[in-house]
Amino acid sequence: MSNILVFVEHSQDKPKKAALAAITFGQQLAQKSGDTLNLVLIGPGAADAAHQVQGFGAAKVLVVDHPALASYSTEGTLAALTGAVKALDASSVAAASSSTSKDVLPRLAVRMNAGMASEVTAVVDAKTFKRPMWAGNVVATVELTSTTKVFTVRATEFAAPSAGSASPIEALAVEMHPESFKAKFVSLKAVKSERPELTAANRIIAGGRGTKGPEGFKLIEQLADALGAAIGASRAACDAGWVPNDLQVGQTGKIVAPDLYIGVGISGAIQHLAGMKGSKVIVAINKDPEAPIFQVADYGLVADLFKAVPELLEALKKG
Ligand SMILES: Cc1cc2nc3c(=O)[nH]c(=O)nc-3n(C[C@H](O)[C@H](O)[C@H](O)COP(=O)(O)OP(=O)(O)OC[C@H]3O[C@@H](n4cnc5c(N)ncnc54)[C@H](O)[C@@H]3O)c2cc1C
Repeated sequence: MSNILVFVEHSQDKPKKAALAAITFGQQLAQKSGDTLNLVLIGPGAADAAHQVQGFGAAKVLVVDHPALASYSTEGTLAALTGAVKALDASSVAAASSSTSKDVLPRLAVRMNAGMASEVTAVVDAKTFKRPMWAGNVVATVELTSTTKVFTVRATEFAAPSAGSASPIEALAVEMHPESFKAKFVSLKAVKSERPELTAANRIIAGGRGTKGPEGFKLIEQLADALGAAIGASRAACDAGWVPNDLQVGQTGKIVAPDLYIGVGISGAIQHLAGMKGSKVIVAINKDPEAPIFQVADYGLVADLFKAVPELLEALKKG
């Protein structure tokens, strides 16, 4: 029996929602392979966040902290994960697909001499997995034949983990040589927003080129505020500089699956659909009845957004 290690990313002392989906993947892999699930949390706040993932039946919840992990660095996180892999002699490592896991896990896979499957959407058996290709137009079934395996997991495809026996939390000391790191943290300019974070939001209002510019995009912001929703955007709106790039939804942006996704003035190019078609209810507002977004929409409104959105706002105000 081998060990599975799930890297649980956290923010402000809480596990990220996407990381919980990675735990679910770990539970499913443990069930299909007979291997043992373990979790690891890294860096400041890890110990607090660890308490919140104690009830999912993992054999151990490891916490790795060190002054060198105070700010994110690829090499620091890689050293911490490598230490946890060695401590457990883990043969499988998984994390939710994120900027961090995309940065660190391929490097870890090289160190472990592991086969890697990215953006896994389903566990078929202990070594067979499903993952999307070509902007989600093809679902590939891949088999990892290596003894050691590394995965990133598409969080929108896995539900919350099921409750399990309580896990002991163990602090793990890992050797760290920050003086040899090739990149050093300089500063972080975080965007502060009152709105929910895009990948964790239950509702998203997304705007596209049809909003015609930053002035028109304000309608999207007003609708998002009225519904307590996060804001998303098509790549066209981001590339035009109307909104920041971190709002981009799609193949080269964020993958989201909220309960409600309202796309306004977005045509529904396949690269955009790749990032949102898993949403539970999709609403499209577009003046072109032939717009491809209507093919995936549960509710479609063929209308000029500059008329329809103010009317919607008025109706919401009236309750
Ligand atoms: C490799 C690659 C990766 C990509 N990755 C992404 C990605 O991650 N995310 C992404 O979004 N795109 C991505 N794209 C770009 C994608 O192909 C499209 O170009 C882009 O999604 C179009 O954005 P849009 O729908 O806002 O604009 P358009 O396609 O121009 O559509 C604008 C829509 O607004 C409607 N409209 C105009 N005026 C109004 C009005 N007054 N009222 C109502 N509707 C109106 C129009 O009918 C039209 O359907 C990628 C492309 C490539 C090649």
